[in-house]
Amino acid sequence: MTAESTSLFSSLTRRSFLKTASSVAAAGALGESLDLLAQAAPKYTAILVPAGAHPAVRSAAEMLAKKLGLGEDAVHESSGAASVSKGAIVLALKSVVTDGRGALASAITRDGYAVLAQNGGLMVCGARPRSLLFAAGETHHWLERTAGLWARNPEFAMRFAAHHADHSVAEQVAILGANSFVSQLHASVSLKDEMPEVYAKLSPAVQQRLAAAEADDMKRNAALVKEFHDADVEAFADLPYGNNFSRWSEDLYNAFLAVYPSAKGVPVEHSWERAALCPSDPATWKLFEAYVRECARQSQADGVACTFWDQFGIFCHDERCRKNGLDQFKNELQVAITHYYAAVQPMGKKLHLRTWSSGCPHWLGADYVHAPGYSNFSESHYELWSRVINETPKEILIQTKVYHSDCEPDPRFTTLLGHCKPHPEIVEYQMVGQTIGRHYFPAATVAYTAWTMKKAHELIGADGGAEITPGGTNQSNYDMYADLLNSVDIFAWRELTWNLNASVTQIYADWAAQMYPAQAAPHMAKAMLLSEEAANLCWSPLGHGSSTNSDFANDIERRETLLRYTNRYYLPEYAKFLEPTKENIARIVAEKQKCLAGIDAMFVELNAAMPYLMEEQTLELATRFDWFREFAACNTALDVSLWRFRYLRAQAAMLTTDPAEIKPLAEAFDTVTQHAPKLFHYDPAQKFTCYDVPLGQLRTKPNLGSPLRLMHEIYTKSLAFMEASTGPDYLPKEFIRAEVQINIPTESQRQRM
Ligand SMILES: [Zn+2]
Repeated sequence: MTAESTSLFSSLTRRSFLKTASSVAAAGALGESLDLLAQAAPKYTAILVPAGAHPAVRSAAEMLAKKLGLGEDAVHESSGAASVSKGAIVLALKSVVTDGRGALASAITRDGYAVLAQNGGLMVCGARPRSLLFAAGETHHWLERTAGLWARNPEFAMRFAAHHADHSVAEQVAILGANSFVSQLHASVSLKDEMPEVYAKLSPAVQQRLAAAEADDMKRNAALVKEFHDADVEAFADLPYGNNFSRWSEDLYNAFLAVYPSAKGVPVEHSWERAALCPSDPATWKLFEAYVRECARQSQADGVACTFWDQFGIFCHDERCRKNGLDQFKNELQVAITHYYAAVQPMGKKLHLRTWSSGCPHWLGADYVHAPGYSNFSESHYELWSRVINETPKEILIQTKVYHSDCEPDPRFTTLLGHCKPHPEIVEYQMVGQTIGRHYFPAATVAYTAWTMKKAHELIGADGGAEITPGGTNQSNYDMYADLLNSVDIFAWRELTWNLNASVTQIYADWAAQMYPAQAAPHMAKAMLLSEEAANLCWSPLGHGSSTNSDFANDIERRETLLRYTNRYYLPEYAKFLEPTKENIARIVAEKQKCLAGIDAMFVELNAAMPYLMEEQTLELATRFDWFREFAACNTALDVSLWRFRYLRAQAAMLTTDPAEIKPLAEAFDTVTQHAPKLFHYDPAQKFTCYDVPLGQLRTKPNLGSPLRLMHEIYTKSLAFMEASTGPDYLPKEFIRAEVQINIPTESQRQRM
């Protein structure tokens, strides 16, 4: 058996092999091998589908056959109402099933399914074709049933997912239990028919390139959309990100301005948001509508999905916009979404709108990041979207991230969900590993998903939706479905969207049972359960944030910006943890000790699992657990030292200091110096399950920056604060780090003192 067999996808097809192998191992230990081997013999030998079944039903049958270790010839077509017989799994649709009292069909709601165990066989009945794919993706819930009726219905009407191009749609539908996908269905827009006057300004070379690309795109999109429809799910095409038209198409932007120069926007000085186009100029909307319509047409999808806020490009402050209010974000949003809708609605396509949550306003270099809509020196999330909510057509789907800041694990819950009615609302789970080490480390978010999913459901209701984007920010060659560790988050999302009350420990247990040999599984489940708190404590100091990408900040200014960027900064219950006091230093010391103890406990579980793991699993897990421990050693030392620095800075402002801080600061300095060279050690020939190439060939090398520069600055400045009061002789020499340059006060500073 190779390590490839451990992934959510392979568990879809090869679980019987894993299970059989581990049953045999257990049997040997118990001396009951004959009995258990007899039990491991195939229980089901045939899968029946209706003649002329929908492709989704056919795919479901083939998946089941593979999962049971049967050949494709085990799938048979039956005409008329199939009855359940011994050794057979019958796949059927609710509309054609008659089981006497109708219990089977009436147990099913929305696009769910039900399983009836009878006569030594199983009847799997789906509300519609895709329901049978949902069933095929979670046989652990029903395959072992021997009697009675079991119904499985989704908690949310809509389950959206970002499409992963490397896996078949049917498999993603099965694993995620999702019924709508957002996909990159690329369009090559030339505006030849929509705005010939703009098209005429493109160079002949560009015109030719776009025409050729359009033909290719249309062909590729048709094939992919067919794949979605064959799996009986809806497809949404991702519009270009944000609404900065100069980024959507530089060629068209220049051609457009050559014809309509008055549409050029006037930006605000020092704004992070741009003003490529002016929203008060009618030509701007003619262009947007034409472009969006063309994207929708070429995609051939059922709808389009748009994302606000990053790369906002109509923040115009010319005289027209200042006069009519279109210099305000909330008015610009309302007008933009109204025009997007006007473009797609006559085509019979849906509009999916993704709001954004991105922390508090802050400076980023010379630009001011408004990050509007998050209160605290900007308007509230609801205020920002209120005109869209109240004035745009109610069928527009509004999707909002579950969290109120994307730069911390275990963040605040969004303030917008539940306030967008009458629009259908969707809660978004961006599971891309940003704040949990980009999925390098074992770092689950199952408990967080469990409580937030429940809360979101209360707020938006069963007619709303849940969304998942599985992946890895700044990762290359990465496949979260194949991730030996963090695929648990995908698994949990699926379980919870179908059962809000699924227990966290059961989710871990079920996932581990699919991924690992039987005797290793409980330990790996425990290790991953422990990882969630360890990751929260590692990156979220006293509830505050880290870098969005979970890497080391380069200097104190950036680190403190990240604390401010977190929306908790302004809440009284969290603001008090930032007070520069000894109590808060003690708090953060205790928190970070708990983090490191949690990682030690993860290692205890890993070591207990080791004897039962396959060799490739052992190597990968040992490497990734070690990465986490080394990163955490550095990161905890940095966070604790930052709080000491903040305390000493406040003491200095009071014209005094606390020399006792020099010892722990010097120790932290030594810790970071000692551990920094050990970050991300690996053998270039080693291959992880989640990458398609060995580590040495990854396009993006595993890396989260260096802790040295920040540690150096914290130590040096802290020492300077102390020396300013104590003079150079008082502090014990053994805690002065020779390699650190101390800031000797200049003559003018000395005079001020
Ligand atoms: Zn303007």
